[in-house]
Amino acid sequence: MRRAWSQSESRILTLCSKLNEATASGPEWVKLSVYSPPDLARPTFKEATSHEFRPAEVGQWFGPSWSTHWFKVQLTVPKHMLDKKHLELEWDANCEGMIWTADGDVVHGLTGGGERTQWILPNAFRDGKEHLFYVEIACNGMFGNAPGGDSIQPPDPNKFFQLHTAKVVAVDLEARGLYFDFWEIGDAAREFASESWEAHEAQQIANRIIDAFIAGGGSRESIVEGRKIAREYLGEVDTHKVYESDKEAIITGIGYCHIDTCWLWPFAETKRKVARSWSNQCDLIDRYPELRFCCSQAQQYKWLEQYYPSTFDRVKKKVKEGTFQPIGGSWVEHDTNLPGGESLIRQFLYGQRYFESRFGQRCKTFWLPDTFGYSTQLPQVCRISGMTRFLTQKLSWNNINNFPHTTFNWVALDNSQVICHMPPCETYTAEANFGDVKRSVSQHKSLDQDKTSLLVFGKGDGGGGPTWQHLEKLRRCRGMSDKTGLLPRIKLGDSADDFFDKLEKKVEQGTELVTWYGELYFELHRGTYTTQANNKRNNRKSEIMLRDIEYLATLATIKNDFGKKSSYKYPKQDIDDMWENVLLCQFHDCLPGSSIEMCYDDSDEVSEHHGLPHETC
Ligand SMILES: [Zn+2]
Repeated sequence: MRRAWSQSESRILTLCSKLNEATASGPEWVKLSVYSPPDLARPTFKEATSHEFRPAEVGQWFGPSWSTHWFKVQLTVPKHMLDKKHLELEWDANCEGMIWTADGDVVHGLTGGGERTQWILPNAFRDGKEHLFYVEIACNGMFGNAPGGDSIQPPDPNKFFQLHTAKVVAVDLEARGLYFDFWEIGDAAREFASESWEAHEAQQIANRIIDAFIAGGGSRESIVEGRKIAREYLGEVDTHKVYESDKEAIITGIGYCHIDTCWLWPFAETKRKVARSWSNQCDLIDRYPELRFCCSQAQQYKWLEQYYPSTFDRVKKKVKEGTFQPIGGSWVEHDTNLPGGESLIRQFLYGQRYFESRFGQRCKTFWLPDTFGYSTQLPQVCRISGMTRFLTQKLSWNNINNFPHTTFNWVALDNSQVICHMPPCETYTAEANFGDVKRSVSQHKSLDQDKTSLLVFGKGDGGGGPTWQHLEKLRRCRGMSDKTGLLPRIKLGDSADDFFDKLEKKVEQGTELVTWYGELYFELHRGTYTTQANNKRNNRKSEIMLRDIEYLATLATIKNDFGKKSSYKYPKQDIDDMWENVLLCQFHDCLPGSSIEMCYDDSDEVSEHHGLPHETC
């Protein structure tokens, strides 16, 4: 029975996932040429596109690790596809990439290996004429260039990546819809308790879909019929309206993209990861209006503003609409145990100052899902910085004690407190699966106090955040909760701040959360406090030096009677630049020593460039 089920399941999943109405590839429709910059350079759009491009084709290999290649793509939609409902470019070079318009604006990020390989073609392309755009590929995967995928090893400097796919595809959206219907109903049949009627009904519905599909030979009619059957279990799930029912939802789904500012790749690659990921999110928000996407780290916003101004403008527009939410209030998602007290304060001073200056508002929620331990001062520092709540997750990785709470008051030494929430599905990069929704209740440890929780979903690092697949799955989860029941109800459309606002209100009205006093000690990654000692020494020396500079500059300013006696001016810009670089290197994979060697060459260079201590071993 189990075998029969899985055979039928794989048959329908495979057929539906690949069911395209038409495809077009080869130089007649997708003409390619390439420019490969020398010396692992990452040139700007203007620089790269000013060079000669040589002919290229699908099947070619590009490398080595960390090199960049710019493709000129001349695309023509064939006549027989012009009136198809949904046209996409499917591009898979097995590495990361970014699509640019011919005018030099970032359009969309790509992640190879099947992770994120589609770009919806603009309607303007449906004129039968040739259209030009560029794809910049970076020879690294989502997680750098680790040999054999073992990220703990130094990266392989000689990896090559094959351009596997570059084609125009007309997608049958009904087939795609059935693929996700069946996926979620299949999960319900497997994962609901076997004694529940909901599991049995899911099984029956799935069987009927398979029967209809097989009887119709996988025809379009059989797909439409399958979708009709699926609606008996899921209801109408094709638009964001699925979230508009007035039934109480206890899980809030929040899109997030955890981009490590450096880790298995250098800072230079992070700058591109930010542009790829966030341009994707701006596009996805337009297509899925229920999506709320949050992102932390002022430094990443600043890089986008400096290097990709038109993408920054897109982000700014979404922030104004309330769909793209700056969160966290800090300069980077930093380590909290190694930086000195002054640095902890500066993380928030520089972070909040940036968010306020660019978006007109400070953050209300400290967001630090992935750090390797939590200093007891944090609630105090959060409060001073205008933040009364805190989200984290890493503590669920403890290898000895299971931390006992999901939502609780966290209290510092001086009795300052913040509301802390740890998403019960125990990840900040959820794939938005049925199981993630289920675990948001089954693993919730504070149900005696409050049953609500956050589900933080979206691919991290090179994955670009939430995908349309995540949003399709979540619509079905919600539809299933409303139509059939049993699955905890999730909603999209509220921000992380909305979630905490409601929580705070409940506390005001008498909900008593459990209180945790003092440090949140993380029982894993302990080696990070004794690794890359040189980097740690430079950090401490920089902190001390900056204290001295500020002290002396203040004395000089006073002595100068605040600019009245001589031309001496307090060197604010220089000091800000130095602080921002010290804060950058306190990122949670940099200062703790968990990054690859390239990142420490980078942090030495950053220090050297800004006149900060930079002794090397
Ligand atoms: Zn991280």
